[in-house]
Amino acid sequence: MTKTLNGDKKIVKVRNLEFGGDRPIIIAGPCSVESKEQLYETVKGLKEIGVDCIRGGIFKPRTSPFDFQGLGIEGLKYLREVSEEFDLPIVTELMDDKYLDIFIEFVDIIQVGSRNMYNYSLLKELGKTNKPILLKRGMSATIKEWVMAAEYIASNGNDNIILCERGIRSFDNYTRNLMDISAVPIMKMETGLPVIIDPSHGTGNKELILPMTKAGLAAGADGVIIEVHYKPETALCDGEQSLDLEQYKKFYNEIRSS
Ligand code: PEP
Ligand code: MN
Repeated sequence: MTKTLNGDKKIVKVRNLEFGGDRPIIIAGPCSVESKEQLYETVKGLKEIGVDCIRGGIFKPRTSPFDFQGLGIEGLKYLREVSEEFDLPIVTELMDDKYLDIFIEFVDIIQVGSRNMYNYSLLKELGKTNKPILLKRGMSATIKEWVMAAEYIASNGNDNIILCERGIRSFDNYTRNLMDISAVPIMKMETGLPVIIDPSHGTGNKELILPMTKAGLAAGADGVIIEVHYKPETALCDGEQSLDLEQYKKFYNEIRSS
């Protein structure tokens, strides 16, 4: 068996952004798209401060089926609207390949969430496209399993893959997950792909977003994806780990000035 990802450095281009280029990419936005107003007000604030790409889930892989599951395709309409109005690319999670064609047309980066890292039929289908894919680490995935998940996409023909360390489960639940900063240089060496970090899900604690971002960037991360909500106290999902716009401004200024 020959590996497709042999460690040669890969830059993934998304509109005018380069993941793996000279500058770390900042992706921010709400955990979930909740309404037109919520998304619009959040993205307007982010744009005024500075941001490279917008995140927002429309299909939410919630642990409980009784929790908010996302707006579905209606949410994609709102994502497109803000993307066009503020000239920003969007990333959102695909859970079911029945929506693949619509995602290929309307989404800039297709996210594979932690729970779907092992969904090999989904990974194979994404491998047959040439879309940029954000592949999150499974919450209990070893480095080797994560590399192989990336290979499921790359060996089917698509090496436009951005990896994302989002924390793994550990014995200690003081933080939501244990952010494995060592995975950043390891995955870059193993695959050559750009690697970004998600300190929002990685820690579950908004106070830890800035220090963990600094740690990740110091370890060579090519960017960061974080949760920001214009009113985190009203968020339908992950409000406790979401920055408000004032806090995002401080985060952005520190990261961009360092
Ligand atoms: C998300 O980014 O919205 C998300 C659900 O993250 P994860 O798949 O890492 O849990
Ligand atoms: Mn979330």
